Amino acid sequence: MPDHRNYSPAPDLLRDRIVLITGASDGIGRALALRAARLGAQIILHGRNVQKLEKVYDEIEALDRGVRPSIAVVDLASADSDAYRDLAEMLLKEFGRLDGLVHNASILGDRFSIEQYDASTWQRVMHVNVTAAFALTQVCLPLLHQSDDPSIIFTSSGVGRTGRAFWGAYAVSKFATEGLSQVLADEHRHGKLRVNCVNPGATRTNMRLAAYPGENRDKLKRPEEILAPYIYLLGPDSKNVTGESLDCQ
Ligand code: NDP
Repeated sequence: MPDHRNYSPAPDLLRDRIVLITGASDGIGRALALRAARLGAQIILHGRNVQKLEKVYDEIEALDRGVRPSIAVVDLASADSDAYRDLAEMLLKEFGRLDGLVHNASILGDRFSIEQYDASTWQRVMHVNVTAAFALTQVCLPLLHQSDDPSIIFTSSGVGRTGRAFWGAYAVSKFATEGLSQVLADEHRHGKLRVNCVNPGATRTNMRLAAYPGENRDKLKRPEEILAPYIYLLGPDSKNVTGESLDCQ
């Protein structure tokens, strides 16, 4: 396997690939949407805030790659099974398949000890970060099976591999994300679908700012600088790479 952190894609690597990115309105998801669109992908921008998604839509249109993105508005905190089914039906009608599914959206929750952690915040974090990814994966699997080279990417974190004090539900949700990715990868070990995790590492986004308000942001990498492993996993060069958890930094 090449060093995916230095992966350098061909200019049209993702041409004709249909890729759904959750949490594409901001941070890493937005940067990935723009990069993948630049490489030719047809992007479905998922998020909960239409105005923010429309801004990203306009930025992709301005790239002038000739492929219009789509917008899918689903609030992962409140979506019910009908919302997921409607999204999958829209994808089936519009595209007939999915080549990439990037589970990027997450929330941080509170930075408290387990003893002090608020139970409703715990449930919300676990729901948005884990249960919603499960529900979305389930409705998207039939669409991914229509692809010749399908790839699912889950987003992990350093605190999803080694537990750390005061990271509460967020850390536990990222351990669960690694588990979901491994189980799904193993279930498809003999098929075309590859399933992997990516750990972005410290990146200059609103989530990082909320977690470390006093930090010098200038020392952090920008989202645009950490995308190589995502692109590697979305494109054909990662065929047969599955059940892995890759670091971006
Ligand atoms: P941001 O907070 O910048 O972006 C999160 C995205 O998720 C936004 O688009 C946000 O939408 C969306 N989102 C949040 N809640 C919901 C919801 N209920 N329904 C729909 N969309 C929602 O985070 P990052 O870009 O930093 O994080 C991206 C991923 O990387 C996450 O999984 C995070 O855990 C992981 N990560 C980040 C690190 C970092 O240092 N930044 C380090 C390790 C992991 P909206 O714009 O409406 O808020």
